[in-house]
Amino acid sequence: MRRVVCPGSFDPVTNGHLDIIGRASGLYDEVVVAVLINITKKSLFSVDERVAMLGEVTKGYGNVRVERFHGLLVDFCAANGITAIVKGLRAVSDFEYEMQMAQMNYRLAKVETMFMTTNPLYSFLSSSLIKEIATYGGDVSGLVPEIVLTELRARLKDLSSAARRLPAMSWESHAGAGRLIGRFSHRQTR
Ligand code: ADP
Repeated sequence: MRRVVCPGSFDPVTNGHLDIIGRASGLYDEVVVAVLINITKKSLFSVDERVAMLGEVTKGYGNVRVERFHGLLVDFCAANGITAIVKGLRAVSDFEYEMQMAQMNYRLAKVETMFMTTNPLYSFLSSSLIKEIATYGGDVSGLVPEIVLTELRARLKDLSSAARRLPAMSWESHAGAGRLIGRFSHRQTR
């Protein structure tokens, strides 16, 4: 069984992430999408919400499952029988950092990293850029799955009404509010 992991923050999942996940699912027996739990990083969506959205948009693939992890990725790999990490490379700017991580992960636990060049349609895409554009009312349709678009609009609407009540706060400082609102918390996650 060739099982690989696609790790990331996925805050939220974009069509660039999905492209890599879909291509990996055609190459390997099983793909584990692992959502990083990072309590020090501000996020727009809670981990549960990100996992639920990923579960929804990858449900068409029979061999993709979504998990969460914290700590070292190589420990997650060892605990789940994963021998390789799959990452997308968008631009040369991604390369230096990714190479360092790949070499360290191999040094730590002999876990390989497989790089896929991004689909040129999505090479400029990142979750942070999506959030920034959407915050200012820009059109991000076609860059994220429909369900993410809907949730993104709803979350930013919730936050902008909260910001009217509490001026001088951005979505980043409202990240905790996302957890309280918990639009996905009632849904079953995989
Ligand atoms: P980001 O905020 O940059 O999208 P993530 O941590 O969620 O960051 O991304 C996880 C991984 O997904 C990245 O390390 C990269 O391998 C891949 N990835 C992200 N965006 C793209 C994209 N547009 N095209 C290809 N791969 C991508």
